[in-house]
Amino acid sequence: MKRYHVTTFGCQMNEHDSERMKGMLESIGYAEAPDADGADLILFNTCSIREAADSKFLAHLGHAKRRKRERPDVVIGVGGCWAQSVKDEVFRKFPFVDVAFGPGQVHKLAEFLTSDSLSAQGFFEFEGFTGDLPEKRAREFQGWVQISVGCNMACSYCIVPSTRGRDVGRPLETLVADVERMAAEGVSEVTLLGQNVNAYGRDLARRGFPRANFADLLHAIDAIEGIRRIRYTSPHPQDMKEDVIRAHAELPALCEHVHLPLQSGSSAVLKRMRRTYSRERYLDRVALLREHVPDVALTTDIIVGFPGETDDDFEQTLSLCEEVAYDGAFTFVYSPRRHTEAAEFEDQVPHEVKVERMERLVEVIQRNARERAQRFVGRTLEVLVEGPSRTDPTRLRGRSRHNKVVNFTGLAQPGEYVQVEIESATSQTLMGEESLLSRVGA
Ligand code: SAM
Ligand code: SF4
Repeated sequence: MKRYHVTTFGCQMNEHDSERMKGMLESIGYAEAPDADGADLILFNTCSIREAADSKFLAHLGHAKRRKRERPDVVIGVGGCWAQSVKDEVFRKFPFVDVAFGPGQVHKLAEFLTSDSLSAQGFFEFEGFTGDLPEKRAREFQGWVQISVGCNMACSYCIVPSTRGRDVGRPLETLVADVERMAAEGVSEVTLLGQNVNAYGRDLARRGFPRANFADLLHAIDAIEGIRRIRYTSPHPQDMKEDVIRAHAELPALCEHVHLPLQSGSSAVLKRMRRTYSRERYLDRVALLREHVPDVALTTDIIVGFPGETDDDFEQTLSLCEEVAYDGAFTFVYSPRRHTEAAEFEDQVPHEVKVERMERLVEVIQRNARERAQRFVGRTLEVLVEGPSRTDPTRLRGRSRHNKVVNFTGLAQPGEYVQVEIESATSQTLMGEESLLSRVGA
């Protein structure tokens, strides 16, 4: 039996795509190898969102090249956003690569592997959703659901529109059927994935499918028996409408957590980023969310050092973070990307200024996250158990509905929902003890 190994870089969409690659490979008779050295097929699912992602991947590719020299029959495959962004030069620059494919062509990998062709091939046009392929889930009780590919926004720093193309949604009935199947297989938590999830559905009628929007999708999935938690990522503040916000208050399965990417607290920077909302509009969305779901956990993405960002712009980001008091944030140093508008802007911010701003931002984010997390101390939270704690295997690790990692002592098994009494909290993690009383009562 032939063996494969997949290394995944980047976002949750790539984690999803890798699960589908694995499912597809197993459906054609491959088995997973524990590491690349023992594999006949070495696959990389690549990311290109920042320069660091490119460099990290290229180091791995160098290792695969050496493997290929030792064992020329090993097949090397490269999929995902980096592959798509270098599609015209990949085989010239990396002649040891056998197959390369973009995010809309994952299914072609199986065709390539089962054909008699020995020559290198690349597949890059959007043809189908990875979400339509069979999956091999990392945890049997958690499922990713790809609701759309691509993005119709044109954020001036972002490579995604050029690697994943226009926004195309999967029909609502397909998604409901997919989640029903997952629920029957034991999935109780789903995460809906897309680059701009709350723009979901705008293209459906034009493509001949029944009309539906993101709120309709949330309602339909909430109604599926066995689904206890729904998460999604990422929404765009421009499309964060009241129907979705109300859904958070109304739907029992929809979690009290929203990841709402900010990018900058300065309206001037947001404009140059082409984010299509202002600081005021963003704050208005936060206020509406907190009005309907007072206890909601808010997280975000922020870029520091965007071209032309002045000290004053950056202070506005800091003040917005103090005002919102996020439960957590992913913070990124701006990195110029090929095929993007901002890479051509002249007023790039010096590296040391970016680093200094990043340190200040992280301090504000962590301090607020730590303070926000104290509201959970003394409360009993529902936790979905994921496995042993990473730092202390005698304890368990899971997640609350607010998407907080919870480390606790208890007797539960992965996949179970338990009540945990929270005793202390840091900016990242809650600590506690399983409520044995509620177990007796269960
Ligand atoms: N579609 C999602 C959105 O709009 O939030 C996710 C896009 S991207 C996969 C995740 C995050 O990477 C973005 O929210 C942004 O903060 C960051 N990012 C994207 N391009 C970047 C760049 N050129 N430099 C630094 N960070 C970047
Ligand atoms: Fe990139 Fe902007 Fe689309 Fe997000 S919304 S994927 S940041 S272009």
